[in-house]
This record gives sequence, structure tokens and C-alpha cells, in this order.
Amino acid sequence: MEITGSAQHEAWQTRAVPPVEQLRDGLWSIPVPMPGPLRYVSVYAFALEGGGLGLIDAGWDSDEGWAALTSGLASIGGSVEDVRGLLVTHLHFDHLGLAERIRQASSAWVAMHPADAAIVGSPSHRDAAAFVAAEITFLVSLGADHDEAVADVGPAERLVPFTSMAIPDRLLEDGDTADLPGWSLRAVHTPGHTPGHLCFAEERTGLLFSGDHVLPRITPNISTTSDGLADPLRDYLAALDRIGSQEPAEVLPAHEWRFRGLTERTAAIEAHHEHRLAELLDAIRDHPHSTPWQLAAQLTWSRPWEQYERRMRIFAVTETDAHVRLLASRGLVTSSGGAVPTWTLALG
Ligand SMILES: [Zn+2]
Repeated sequence: MEITGSAQHEAWQTRAVPPVEQLRDGLWSIPVPMPGPLRYVSVYAFALEGGGLGLIDAGWDSDEGWAALTSGLASIGGSVEDVRGLLVTHLHFDHLGLAERIRQASSAWVAMHPADAAIVGSPSHRDAAAFVAAEITFLVSLGADHDEAVADVGPAERLVPFTSMAIPDRLLEDGDTADLPGWSLRAVHTPGHTPGHLCFAEERTGLLFSGDHVLPRITPNISTTSDGLADPLRDYLAALDRIGSQEPAEVLPAHEWRFRGLTERTAAIEAHHEHRLAELLDAIRDHPHSTPWQLAAQLTWSRPWEQYERRMRIFAVTETDAHVRLLASRGLVTSSGGAVPTWTLALG
């Protein structure tokens, strides 16, 4: 892999936010800060034929994020009022968060894949109490103690910002070309990280906007959710295989830095998951009749399991569950069924 976003990579090492960069004629990246270890999301801005701007992703909704986006657009000679259309790779808050503010300031359309659009607009995503209740029920079905699940999910107030994200007014299916004049951005459905995750292949420049589907350093979180895919890891690996079969001129991810060498990167991510699946299969062999909650505690994590904080523990358990479900799809493990299924090696 070759790092092409060297300013981004340098900023990473000094724990800073990278500069706004011009990447091609009429194409820029604007980092929008967010809380947490990823520190920023890269918003891509396109100058459109006939005037105006198009964007890929909106950024995390906060006053700091809004200030970074608006000043970034000013630094390239534009403004948020110039935005005509916004393509959103997936429904997470660091990508869709600022879309509503952008739409209100500019009357731009907002486009997503129908699978993510359906989740954003669903009753459990428009009401924080329903959101919390669904998450608790889901964790209990994975083997969490009810009181622990309540504590891990936390209070509903924390989720209020997530319930008012923009519901898209345009839908993009796999293979559709986005309506950004002067560019030929083809939507590539890459489910896994979310059911409706989209990458965008720009056919004139050969660039691939990879969202969170492929990142240069971390493997994107692939987890089960109460309203998500039945086997998200199977879908993710299939989408990875498909996108990695062609080498783009450059990969422009939503986090970290731009790079070349997509095929090598997708192979490394696949190897990571196969290693994880083998480790989990051993854990199920050694601890039969376990729930995903119990199995997560048997796996190796970046720090001792007992030290995992509550939100982190949810990620770890739902990620373990995604791996369990792929083992089941491959016929290697079998479930007891019932409200809280446990898992055992499949016979033969
Ligand atoms: Zn993200």
C-alpha cells in the first residue's frame, strides 16, 4: 500500500486535524472534526459544471463541525449555500450528521441508499426512548443481563441528536450515477458496515470514494444491530471481494488518509476476519452452549476484556455476534434457538 494522503498521515502522527486539500481540478477534501479516536471525517467537495458544489458526506453534527465545514468551503472559494447535492455514504452520525443543517442552508438534495434511508426514517430511529428500548432488547437476546444492558446503553437523552438526522430525498441504488454535473459518480452498494453503505466510483478520474467500507489502517466495525442485516459480515466480505477486484487510481476514504493499493488492503482485511473467525470457532469448541455475550469475553481484544467500558463492550459483543452468524451461514456452528440463543459446533 502506498500512502498518497501524506499531509493527512503526518497530521495523524502529530494528533492534529489535516489541512483542506485540493486533490484534482475541482475536487477538495475538507476535514470535519468529530469526537473519538478517528478525530475527523473527510468531506469531499466537487465543483459542478454550470456552478455550485456537490459533496460526499456531511460530517459530525456539532458547532465545531459546522464551523470547520463552512470555513473549509470558504477557503475553496465557495459557501454552504452553493451546495446543490449531498451524497451520503451511510447513515452514521459522522457522515449524515450535518446533512440537515446543509439542506436548510442550501436547499440541496440529500441522497443515500434505500436500505440506510429506511433505517434513518424508521420509528425506532426517530424516537430516543424507542431507540434505547430496541437496543436493550437486542443486547438481552445476545445474552446480556437486563440491568447491565440498561447501564451499557445509557440514558435516552444521549441519543436525541441521532433521532433528528436528515431523511434523504433521493435514493441511489447500486449502479446509479449521481446527479453531479461534470462528474460521473457511480454508486457501488457495499453493505456490511451498514445495510445501505455506498462507495462512489468516479469514472473519469478513476478515483474510488470508499466511505468507511475500506480504510487504510483500521478494519471497519462490522456488527449486528436490532434492525440490520441478518449476516452483515458475509455481505461485507462479498462486497469487499467485489470492490477489491479492480484497482482504482486512488482510494479516498472517509477517515484516515488517501492511499493506493486497494487489492492489497482488501486482502488484509479479509485475512483479519478469517483469523477472527478461526479464534471464535476455537472459543465455541472450548465453551459450547455460550451466548455471543459470553463468547466475546473469550476473544482477544486490544485491552483486557474486564477493562472494556460500556459502549465499547456493546461494539465488541455485536461484532462477535456478526462473526458467529457467519460461522452459522458456513454451517460450522448451530444455535439452540429461543429468545437467547446459545452456540455450539455443528455436528460433522
Ligand atoms: Zn465513519
